[in-house]
Amino acid sequence: MRSLLALFLTSTVAMAEVPTVVTDIAPVHSIVAMVMGDLGSPELLLAKGADEHDFQLKPSQMDTVAKADLVVWVGPVLTPWLDSALNARTGDGAVLTLFDDVGTYKINFFAGNLSEADANAEGTIDPHVWLDPSTAQFWTGMIAAELSQLDPENAATYAANAEAASATIAKAEAEAKAFLDPVKDRPFVTFHDAYGYYITYFGLTPAGTISLGEAAPPGAARLSDLRAKVEAGTVICIFPEAQHDAALVDQLAEGTDAKVGAALDPVGSTLEPGAGAYAALITGTAKTLADCLAD
Ligand SMILES: [Zn+2]
Repeated sequence: MRSLLALFLTSTVAMAEVPTVVTDIAPVHSIVAMVMGDLGSPELLLAKGADEHDFQLKPSQMDTVAKADLVVWVGPVLTPWLDSALNARTGDGAVLTLFDDVGTYKINFFAGNLSEADANAEGTIDPHVWLDPSTAQFWTGMIAAELSQLDPENAATYAANAEAASATIAKAEAEAKAFLDPVKDRPFVTFHDAYGYYITYFGLTPAGTISLGEAAPPGAARLSDLRAKVEAGTVICIFPEAQHDAALVDQLAEGTDAKVGAALDPVGSTLEPGAGAYAALITGTAKTLADCLAD
């Protein structure tokens, strides 16, 4: 009898356990953290200051991925370094690939209307989908549904947290809009082609990007094309990026009227990871853009 009771208690405890969750990048980590709330804390894989397209997991992180009940990530187009870790995974851990969901709004790489230099970006879907706040709001519900499937007992809490998270994102979006509305017709250049969703959502005026979508070094033709555009005087600001050397930005701006803005951080890897990071990313990006583009 005693052992039966013990068995019963053990299995009840196992069922009630909140899933262990691993995430790829800070914005996704933040959204999952909001949905989990006080029930648990997800793990974040991408290290502080690291480039989302070019990263290598430590053996301990491979182990964390292998053991996680759930991995929430954008998808292989953004982080191939996580794809191989997931492929190596055995067991019955779940995976939520946000990029693959039909509800995730997708556009082709923006590429800033440059000439033939952009040919290789054409027709490729831009994986920086989290920079559209309406997509992030949609994900809160998706993540809550996935967590509820693994942990039905806490379904009501996940749903309530998702609703609160969606409201938090809406507030950040309104704050960002207030910063951006006065400068939305002022052309700017960014370091890599990561901002198409943000630009589209807030109705901004891009003038080009130094690197293409995977942040690889640009070719000479692309740079001279961009330099001509900056020399023509239409570009108000050029923004470096936290993950990349600003030397190319400085070269491009040198001797022209274009200003060099503060560094942008599209993947939020310089932010304090946690529930607040997503809102900070959306409003912080707006503030950095507006600070330089205004006046
Ligand atoms: Zn990127």
